Amino acid sequence: MCSFGECAVSQPAFILSLPDWLEEFVSNSRRFFPTPEERMSFVIELSRLNVLHRGGPFAAAIFCMEDGSLLAPGVNLVLSGGCSVLHGEIVALMAAQMKIGDYDLSSPGSRQYELVTSTEPCAMCLGAITWSGVRQLVCGARGSDAEDTGFDEGEKPPRWAEGLERRGISVVRDVCREQASAVLREYQASGGVIYNPRRNTSAASK
Ligand SMILES: [Zn+2]
Repeated sequence: MCSFGECAVSQPAFILSLPDWLEEFVSNSRRFFPTPEERMSFVIELSRLNVLHRGGPFAAAIFCMEDGSLLAPGVNLVLSGGCSVLHGEIVALMAAQMKIGDYDLSSPGSRQYELVTSTEPCAMCLGAITWSGVRQLVCGARGSDAEDTGFDEGEKPPRWAEGLERRGISVVRDVCREQASAVLREYQASGGVIYNPRRNTSAASK
């Protein structure tokens, strides 16, 4: 029997709330973002604001592909949520699926959705994207940009983008890459926490 106190508590309920500042920011933003650059700029701004609120430098959002409307935003909540899986992409997918009431964002009769992420997905998020039902992935910074600041992408297949394409998920890379990666560099320069540092001595999970 485990002697640690945390093993003795009853099983938890899982409640995920988006930060108040995010709700306020989205409610004051426009709803429609016609171009990929506009959608990415919105997501990059979320990543920058998340850093200002002591979160990780990553954000994502789900948009409708037909009209560019925002369905759900997400920011990295690993630190504030005390949970390693709360990457921006995961949070956005969870929020989107809760909003439409379906685990599949491309179920029959559904609108088509894309995931816009400020940095290319890590190994965990790559898997989550595969099962989510999004039809397109749009990326800002490269995974190598995140790794240059000390974060860890995990063990991704070298041709991961082609793998998504084979599953019917188109991939668009390097949208506003410089602006997206600037947030990563600013976070690093400000002494932001590089969490999950146990993989090796120099890299951490994003
Ligand atoms: Zn991730």
